[in-house]
Amino acid sequence: MSAQTDLVILGGGLAGGLAALAVAAQRPEWRVCVVEAGERCGGNHVWSWFDSDIAQDARWLVDPLVVKHWDGHGVRFAGHERQLPMGYNSTNGERLDAVLEERLPKGAVLRGSPALEVSATHVTLADGWRLEAGAVLDARGAPGFAGLRGGWQKFVGQVWHTGPHGFEKPIIMDATVEQRDGYRFIYVLPFSAETLFVEDTYYSAHAGLDRDVLAGRIADYVAGLGLKQARIIHEEQGVLPVVAGGEIETFLAATRIPGVGRIGTRAGLFHPLTSYSLPCAVEAALAVAGAPGLSALDGLCESRARAHWRDGAFLRLLARMMFGAGEPARWHRVFERFYRLNEGLIARFYAGRLTMPDKLRLVSGRPPVPLGRALATLMGGGNSLAGLDHPGNVGHDSPQPSIGSITMSPSAGPGASGVLPS
Ligand SMILES: Cc1cc2nc3c(=O)[nH]c(=O)nc-3n(C[C@H](O)[C@H](O)[C@H](O)COP(=O)(O)OP(=O)(O)OC[C@H]3O[C@@H](n4cnc5c(N)ncnc54)[C@H](O)[C@@H]3O)c2cc1C
Repeated sequence: MSAQTDLVILGGGLAGGLAALAVAAQRPEWRVCVVEAGERCGGNHVWSWFDSDIAQDARWLVDPLVVKHWDGHGVRFAGHERQLPMGYNSTNGERLDAVLEERLPKGAVLRGSPALEVSATHVTLADGWRLEAGAVLDARGAPGFAGLRGGWQKFVGQVWHTGPHGFEKPIIMDATVEQRDGYRFIYVLPFSAETLFVEDTYYSAHAGLDRDVLAGRIADYVAGLGLKQARIIHEEQGVLPVVAGGEIETFLAATRIPGVGRIGTRAGLFHPLTSYSLPCAVEAALAVAGAPGLSALDGLCESRARAHWRDGAFLRLLARMMFGAGEPARWHRVFERFYRLNEGLIARFYAGRLTMPDKLRLVSGRPPVPLGRALATLMGGGNSLAGLDHPGNVGHDSPQPSIGSITMSPSAGPGASGVLPS
């Protein structure tokens, strides 16, 4: 069984799905085919982003995906609270799958059969199909982080049906909780008047994550809000890399297939400090759709990956300042200080578009962490920090860290089905 097409996109996740939507809208002359291993594109996944992460002229691509928009958000620290006017959005795998089904030609999305053999001109699927293609794009997520150094952002998130909870806007960071294992905060998204997404998050030097312990802390937080009739309807967890240094060539070499362009986390297209990839995925999708021709895709993707790494140098330096300074108990001060800065700078930080004055502002003034201990790390380009692919860096109870993998349950997490203990 074989078929001929112009462009095969491997992976119907965030990057692959957005690229397929951009191509369908802007290059209707290209026959595109998405190959997704899972039964549904996008997996069972929630993705969020600030309005300011996406350029005005690119919003048409994500607008159909939005399942919830808020016109501002808040942060809470022991020393101060703040409301910011930056709008926030969420989507999920279910919506991405539905929009792909609606906007791509019938039969263009092949679900439920992983690609086994890949070259620049053909793909063989597990079910025996062979696709001949003018070009192949690899968006299968990052299988690991060879060559990169730094720490981790790890979390368990749960959607709770709480009854009326009173939150109107997201709390992006509630760091008034007890600080443990690095910088800890709770992330709250009010998906509806009676439904709350609550995530217990850590910036940590270690990848180990004990799901049950974090679930217990989420339950404590929800109980602390006085919401006693709460029930969990969804759970996800992640252990994402916070990149403070390393070698992009080693990372890229690990998944290179000659002639096959890469996008998404597989190409390192994510924010070094937050690990979020949606803004990069939108830009890459539009670049793919705007390529002069199919034969240009591989070169275009490779140069975008390297340019993104170069552009991330300052953000990696910030990561080194935090991880290299030791004293994880003080890392919360970095974020508390950051959230006293002006809104424009905060928006540009998340969007990965810091200006030179922004950078000077971020490193000026009295440092919130003792810089003396960080100097060696800063000067050594992060070489003294842990490798992100080193197995010893992962606790035995933790999932294999991968930005491209996610553990979620559509209804309830293990042991998380009940009513909140009162
Ligand atoms: C729990 C969690 C929450 C996150 N939340 C956010 C967020 O709110 N905002 C944000 O910007 N980032 C977020 N991230 C980080 C990052 O943006 C996501 O991981 C994002 O999904 C990465 O996009 P991707 O396209 O590179 O990989 P994925 O979205 O993982 O897509 C890869 C796809 O390839 C498929 N695949 C794998 N192997 C094969 C194969 N052999 N053949 C065919 N298909 C294959 C997979 O099934 C998958 O669908 C989150 C990450 C996690 C883990």
